[in-house]
Amino acid sequence: MIVILAGAPGSGKGTQADRLVAEAGFCKISTGDALRRQISLGSEIGRSVESYLNAGKLVPDEILSGVLAEELKHAAGRMILLDGYPRTLNQAKSLDEMKDEYPVSSVIHLDILSEKLIARLTGRRVCQDCAASYHTENMPPAVAGVCDHCGGKLFQRSDDNAEKIRTRLDVYKQETMPVLDFYKERGLYRRLDADKTPQELFTALRKMLEF
Ligand code: AMP
Repeated sequence: MIVILAGAPGSGKGTQADRLVAEAGFCKISTGDALRRQISLGSEIGRSVESYLNAGKLVPDEILSGVLAEELKHAAGRMILLDGYPRTLNQAKSLDEMKDEYPVSSVIHLDILSEKLIARLTGRRVCQDCAASYHTENMPPAVAGVCDHCGGKLFQRSDDNAEKIRTRLDVYKQETMPVLDFYKERGLYRRLDADKTPQELFTALRKMLEF
């Protein structure tokens, strides 16, 4: 079974997904994390996708389907939380073709006005080891620059600057918003107001997922 966490960059998908993993036993698949892992390994896939990530543009669907298939193998038999996939109608259709093996039970849209996202994203810091996400003001780590969970070093993503953020939000509007309609038509879409603190949003999410 798959639950999709949808929403614009900075809407809180990654943070909420991490809590759902820790507190509800989900297995998280983040295609963004998987791609960044390939880049830091210097693999062939990593080299082929690096320029897309740095520019804030979407990686071609053909590459993504391979990356997703690999991630799904590791999650076999578990409740899966998808963060950052599907981001295009084609990706939603390919996932739909796998519905016998991987049925989608709901698509939760963390909805927030795009004006609020720039401040969230420019203050974001991410752990280089476990990918946990922080915010310099709203969710700082106990020790500046150090991950609370694993002690890893925090860094700022190369696509978390004002110019790239604008590109990513445009891409989201053009390519990813139609995906929400795809799931509305199938009766799987559910909306949550994401203009909340991480704790408030988690409480709302928990209620929605009934655990
Ligand atoms: P994220 O960590 O989800 O914000 O993703 C970071 C970047 O990875 C995106 O801006 C894209 O370049 C790439 N990416 C992640 N997921 C996808 C996807 N489903 N389709 C295409 N590109 C993706």
